[in-house]
Amino acid sequence: MKSKSLLIIGGGMTGLTAAYLAAKAGKQVIILEGSDKIGGLLNTFEIGGNQLEHYYHHFFTQDAELHWLLKELGIADKAFYKKTTMGVFRNGKIYNFNGPLDLLKFKPVNIFDKVRFGLTSIYLGKIAKWRSSEGIPTLEWFYKWAGKGMTDALWKPMLNIKFGPYASKVPLAWMIGRLAQRLNSRKGADERLGYIDGSWKTLLDTIQQKLMEMGVEIRTSTPVTAFKMNGKEVEKIISNEESFDAEDYLVTIPSIYFKNIKNCPLDGSNIEYFGAVCTILELNKSLSSIYWMNVADEGFPFGGVIEHTNFIPKEKYQDSHIVYLSRYFAMSEDLASMTENEIKETMISPLKRINPEFSEDWIKNVFVFKTNTAATVCDLNFSEKVPECKTQTPNLFLANMAHIYPDERSTNNSIRVAAEACKVMGINTDLVPYGASLSGQIGF
Ligand SMILES: Cc1cc2nc3c(=O)[nH]c(=O)nc-3n(C[C@H](O)[C@H](O)[C@H](O)COP(=O)(O)OP(=O)(O)OC[C@H]3O[C@@H](n4cnc5c(N)ncnc54)[C@H](O)[C@@H]3O)c2cc1C
Repeated sequence: MKSKSLLIIGGGMTGLTAAYLAAKAGKQVIILEGSDKIGGLLNTFEIGGNQLEHYYHHFFTQDAELHWLLKELGIADKAFYKKTTMGVFRNGKIYNFNGPLDLLKFKPVNIFDKVRFGLTSIYLGKIAKWRSSEGIPTLEWFYKWAGKGMTDALWKPMLNIKFGPYASKVPLAWMIGRLAQRLNSRKGADERLGYIDGSWKTLLDTIQQKLMEMGVEIRTSTPVTAFKMNGKEVEKIISNEESFDAEDYLVTIPSIYFKNIKNCPLDGSNIEYFGAVCTILELNKSLSSIYWMNVADEGFPFGGVIEHTNFIPKEKYQDSHIVYLSRYFAMSEDLASMTENEIKETMISPLKRINPEFSEDWIKNVFVFKTNTAATVCDLNFSEKVPECKTQTPNLFLANMAHIYPDERSTNNSIRVAAEACKVMGINTDLVPYGASLSGQIGF
């Protein structure tokens, strides 16, 4: 008799949700998490007397699986929505970019290209089918249909910022998923985004508490270092000197880490990841009036300026203004190996271009967070690379970010793929709603 019925590797949102569903169905569950706390990319730190995510995190009105989980955990009343603002920094100027009126006022592009932009966005967000668009490179499509003006001013910088050297490989299918997500979270011209009172730590603390009450064993600082196989099956999981056994095993860690685990029967070599760095400024003045600003001019080390306190009031952070400077990077780029101080220097010096009044004495504190596994590189026909949740090893299952396609990876989609994986393992997941997202339809 194995000591646990399910062993989960990785205590991010995917692993935690799978543990919740399995425990609810009566399984004896253990989670092995490598770092010293659960939560993975959702983790938070203290700033201005409150908690804040290392990487900006909001959710969308249509995130059905997340709403379900918040309700299950009894914290649905902690979630709220607020209208947010979007902008573009282009030709040295900040432009609001929230709806048709702002589009008309967007000087860098002529009226003909604006009409094309409007029509192509609606087409991608509301009509286009991702399946038939998997082999089409997004940028090429935009140049052809949205025109050079808007592609150069908006789409190309956006894709460069998000995918770096992979920008030209991104399939239109991804863009369709992304635009559908953003357009569906709108009410008229307003985009409403969700957040949780007390930060996402409220969710992490509550699920951890609930899991412990349900008898789930959570082992932090327990990185999985090896598999012990017995013929075709997994017999044990090793973490340094300790070993753990179970009837079934669910892997939720990023695929690029498989190669570091001895005797790991999973091959993650065809899935690439890219990184993200968020430099968080705690300021005594506001940088701009916009929540989410895409930087579309050349020569900036960051691509997004996300002023969190234009979403959540500064009073929650002892009147500090909080700004994320965000940049995704490929492992071959300098950012991947830069030290924290080098990153701070690189990010802060161009801020005067965004706001000429900015001065370094606005800065109370600077924090830098970096991850090498911000997202998978979903290139052309990525659905062919999405691994099967049921692996070649009969008692080994896999659910991670590689299963979140063609949608943008998100917490909601982590919950969804965790539920799909549980279903594959024979665990009843009828209680989980099936939202609008496409994730969880491939590989399961
Ligand atoms: C910059 C950025 C912004 C984002 N913004 C949003 C947003 O606005 N809204 C949203 O919904 N989502 C957002 N996300 C995405 C969201 O954070 C992720 O989709 C989600 O948290 C992924 O959860 P996961 O469990 O799949 O992976 P992870 O969070 O990566 O968890 C994997 C876990 O496995 C552990 N692990 C790794 N190796 C081992 C090992 N050998 N043994 C044991 N454990 C191991 C890790 O320590 C980690 O805790 C953002 C992500 C980034 C990077």
